Amino acid sequence: MRYYLPEKPAIEEMHRIHVEKGHLGIVKTIQHFSIKYCATNQNQLAIDLVNGCDICKRAKKQIRKYGEIGQMEPTRSWTALAKEAITEYKHTIHSSTGYTPSFLLDGSDPDEIYQDVDLVQARKLAFNTSQAAHKISKERIERKHKVLQLKEGDLVYENLTDESNKEKLESVFSGPFEIGNKISETIYEIKLPNKIERVHIGKLKPYQPPIISEN
Ligand SMILES: [Zn+2]
Repeated sequence: MRYYLPEKPAIEEMHRIHVEKGHLGIVKTIQHFSIKYCATNQNQLAIDLVNGCDICKRAKKQIRKYGEIGQMEPTRSWTALAKEAITEYKHTIHSSTGYTPSFLLDGSDPDEIYQDVDLVQARKLAFNTSQAAHKISKERIERKHKVLQLKEGDLVYENLTDESNKEKLESVFSGPFEIGNKISETIYEIKLPNKIERVHIGKLKPYQPPIISEN
């Protein structure tokens, strides 16, 4: 069952949906609206609403700006392009600090975003917010991180390659080999074909038996 809304409440409801769902585009805004409601001329209402949304307009401008890098004529050298990309990066607001790198570095602000901002204050703030962002990602990684638990007799692959003396396509892991003694939480003895070697857990990964299909 869908409710008919007159124009004014329809616009209000559409606006609420549009903002609440993260500034949906025209089609998605209509779709969400239509779950519960209908209104006269609802497509046009959604078009006007989304096209008139300040936040959407700003986001669109940004996207176009980034797109231009991809559309530059391919005749230009990568060194020139890289230089421009770096300059552009320095003048782009960083998602963690909330400031552009160039403003924090030397106060330069060609786009005049920070007209009344005190640089010393801004640096302090940026330092704190970037520390906080670092802490959040650290916690996220540690939440997912599981210590590899191995025991005597398990089979493992071992990274035996010498990074400094390795061909490009050479496989990194060899094995499987059997685990001998567990020396500590991080060091295991591995039974290689010709010797027993003490190896750090970082160079090991558990052996997965191949999946054999029935047919
Ligand atoms: Zn919007």
